[in-house]
Amino acid sequence: MKTAAKRALILELFEKQGGKCCYCNRLMVIGKDRNRPDAATLEHLIAGRRKGWTRRDNMAAACRECNGMRGSAMDWLMFKTYRLGEFWELITPSKRS
Ligand SMILES: [Zn+2]
Repeated sequence: MKTAAKRALILELFEKQGGKCCYCNRLMVIGKDRNRPDAATLEHLIAGRRKGWTRRDNMAAACRECNGMRGSAMDWLMFKTYRLGEFWELITPSKRS
């Protein structure tokens, strides 16, 4: 994808998501220092260069930190629950009684 088209798509997704990361819901920044952990990046929900890879409904805006953490091993929905802290509550029973 060309850089200009990519930037336009990030902006579109950014606005659609109310400026929030699709995983951790933090407010992202756009057009500033792109190395910031809260900088908006283009994320492919389903990773891997298979059919549908560049489809728009496979795209979301994610902060750089989430984008860097996820890699391609984890399912996007599982990663989201993990980032929101729901995942561990689900699999780790509370020790407190
Ligand atoms: Zn995030």
